[in-house]
Parts: sequence; structure tokens; C-alpha cells
Amino acid sequence: MNNCKPRVRFAPSPTGALHVGNARTALFNWLFARQQGGVFVLRIEDTDQVRTTLVYEQNLLADLAWLGIDWDEGPGKEGDFGPYHQTERLDIYKSYLDKLLAMGKVYPCYCSEEELEAERAALAAKKMMPRYMGKCRNLTGAEQRGLEAAGKKPTYRFQVDAGPIEFRDMIRGIMKFDGCAIGDFIIVRSNGLPAYNFAVVIDDHLMDITHVIRGEDHLSNTACQILLDRALGFSSPIFAHHSLILGKDRTKLSKRHGAVSVREFRARGFLPEALLNYLSLMGNSFGECREVCDLTEIIKTFTVAGTGKSAAVFDEAKLYWLNGIYLKKYPPAELQALLMPFIREAGYEGDHVASHSLSAIIDAVRGNLRTLAEIKDYLPIFDDEKFSWSPEAGTLLARAESLPAVRYFYDCLMDSACPEENFYEWAIEKTQRLTALKGRALFLPIRCAVTGHTQGPELDKLTAVLGKPAVLKRLEQALHRKFSDYT
Ligand code: GLU
Repeated sequence: MNNCKPRVRFAPSPTGALHVGNARTALFNWLFARQQGGVFVLRIEDTDQVRTTLVYEQNLLADLAWLGIDWDEGPGKEGDFGPYHQTERLDIYKSYLDKLLAMGKVYPCYCSEEELEAERAALAAKKMMPRYMGKCRNLTGAEQRGLEAAGKKPTYRFQVDAGPIEFRDMIRGIMKFDGCAIGDFIIVRSNGLPAYNFAVVIDDHLMDITHVIRGEDHLSNTACQILLDRALGFSSPIFAHHSLILGKDRTKLSKRHGAVSVREFRARGFLPEALLNYLSLMGNSFGECREVCDLTEIIKTFTVAGTGKSAAVFDEAKLYWLNGIYLKKYPPAELQALLMPFIREAGYEGDHVASHSLSAIIDAVRGNLRTLAEIKDYLPIFDDEKFSWSPEAGTLLARAESLPAVRYFYDCLMDSACPEENFYEWAIEKTQRLTALKGRALFLPIRCAVTGHTQGPELDKLTAVLGKPAVLKRLEQALHRKFSDYT
């Protein structure tokens, strides 16, 4: 093992969209490599032929690239330790299977799925840990040949002997397992493809991986992997098992909780820097770091141990808040470029929405954006064809007490003394004097009439973009409508 320069890896199976939990694992490995001047390897674990697809893999690479998690070796970046797809390494696994067979550490198993299920059920009924009890361990050569002649395709199982398995986890300290509880596990499936634990051990060894940082759901796999390391004479990497991301109800973060994949967060208008910042902070990974800290600072303060043993609870409100902060940092032109895909999704091309300048609209609403996608909520304010009153705004406007504010504000705007510029300030001040209305009683009906919503960006900014004629038109519409028209 090369001890001077850490080599870490992210080893996803492209069987679905990149989950934020896996992105967090990738991030921890990447941060560690970048901090230590090490190498970050991306290995594609694509041996599950049924669930793996090329589209998932392409999306995975695109999602990592979008996050800014770049790899030093892996797909598209061939290094000295490739190939980096497990399906391109099948001969390698085969040679190690032969080695283990020759050593007598592995044996073919002919048990059917039904037999295995029955064994698991019987053990569970006796309140014993379900595991393979070694039925095929001692088959004679003749018995094996007989089963094969009958067309049975074996899996290959690694023989686990009783005895302690111990390792020091960088996050959890000393971890102890016992071979008795593990049972002989499959290393090669009946279709000839290597099982996860087997391929990983060989790859981590041959790719010179020094540290394996991954989720705590792999802890029991680590015990199996150490046994294989021992059998093959490999020195095990240093392990670190971080906690998993949980939803607010403290169950594993899943679709039930809302968006879970990097892709979904991207589509909902989150920025990669905000997502990375949030994923690094969850579970209190950085003692000294402020809540909002850029990547350079995160790389500097990152410690594997600091990623924490206790579960990281996903707080979407916090991510919204953080994203809003990152959005505010963007200069206008860059923000507009980021918003464009969402503006197009809302059906607008070019630099205007109806007759209003897009850059002026963005400037008026940007203080309220928490995600890029939220721009879509505000565009109808500027487009008569898409404008409508929300049910809440409609209900409020239908109340008799809402009328004076709207009526007087309208009259003030129609006053010949009302200027064309700063008309809002002039008219609101006069309305206030005439009606003696203040605060919400004054502003809310006007907001509802002009924007169709009970809340949103500041009215002075919105009305400045809309212009006096458009504002008058909205007020007229509000004044002439009956309650039923609003909803
Ligand atoms: N392919 C495995 C997974 O996606 C890799 C686990 C590991 O890091 O060893 O869970």
C-alpha cells in the first residue's frame, strides 16, 4: 500500500439516479483526496446486469460533474489502474476465484433459491441469525460432478471460519465481528459474475486504494471483505463508515420524503455549490466551519472523523435557506444565465416577458428567490395572459374591507398630479393619508390586486417594472370583479 498519497474511490452501481446520500459519500472521498493531495478514483460497479443501464451511468457522470466532483481516474480518465468498469475486469476476478478454489477457501454451492429461503426461515423461526449453514461445503467431487451433470449452475461461496474480525474505523473506532455470525457468503453468482464483496476486495487491492470511506450500511460487508483480504494475503485499506442521511421522521431518506436524487434537486433549481455546502455540513462534519462556507474552506477544515457517527437528518428548509444565500451572491448577468432554463420551461424565450424587460424582472424578484425554479412563480405577474389571482388573494380581495385601499390607490394613480416615475411611492403615501390605513390593511389588498398573490417581492420594485398603465389595469380588473371571478 502506498502510504504517502491517499488513494480513495467512489464506487457507485449505476442502477438508479444518484441519491444525495451517495453524493455525500462521493463528496467525503473527494474532499479527503483534495485535502491530502491524494487521488480520487471513480469505479463503476456495473455487475448487476439486470438493474444497470448506460443511461444511469451517463447521468451519474453528469451529476458528479455538475456538482464539481471531478475524478482523477475513472471513466474518460484512464489511469494506471484501469479498467474502471467492473464488467471489463471479469478475467481478473476469474483468476482470483481460481486461486481461492485452489487454496480450498471457496467451494461451489448448488442450493436453489427455494432451499436457501427455507433455511433462512427455519433459522429465523429459531430466533437465530439467518445465514448459510454450509450444506454444500463438504460435497465430494463426485457429488459436485453429478449435480453439474444434472444441469445445476453453482454459485461460489467463501468459507468463513469462526473467529474474531476486528478493525479500527476512522469514525467509529474499534469494530468487532465474529465469523460465526456471518456464514459462508457468495463471491461468484451462478451467472459467473462476481458478487459485490469479492469484486470490491480485488479492485480496492489492485487499484491501491488506501482508504475506503462509505456509508455505515456497508459495515457488515467490511467484515466479509477483511476475510477475503486475509485469504488473499492483501492488506486491508483503512475503513471509515459514515452515518446515513435520514428524513425528519428519522427513517432512511427516501422518495417518501420528497426529492432524493441530485438530479431532482438540480431540476428544482438548487445550485451545486449550495447542495455541496449543505451535504458537507449535515451531521456536523465541520466543527470549525460556519454554516455557509465555500469549497476551499470546506476542503481545508474537513476531517473524516468529523463526518460524525450520529445520523444526519435532512432538513430541506435549511437547504432552501442556504441556496437562497448562494443565489444572492450571483452578479445579474450570471444569475440570468442560470435562470434561463427555468424561464424557458415557463414558456418564455428572449429577453422580455410580455413587454417587460427580463433583467428588470429578475432584479425585482431576485431577493425572494430561494431556488432558480421559483422564478416561474413570479413571471405571470408580468404577463396579462398568464396572470391570475390565487385563491387566497381572491378571497382577500372579495372582502369589503379590502376595497378602500384598492379604490383609493387607484384614484391616486389616476390623479393628474401623480408622476410617471415613482408613481407607486407617491400614490401609496397619498392613499395612506386619505384612508388612514397602515401596514397589512393598506398593502395587502393592493399586493393581491396587482400581483395576484398574498406575498412576494417588494411592491415598489414590482410596480416599477410593470409601469403605471399595467398597474392601473390590474387595479381596474380587481375593482370590477365579483368574488366568483377571482377563484
Ligand atoms: N457499489 C457499492 C454501492 O454503490 C459500493 C460500496 C462501496 O463503497 O464499497 O453501494
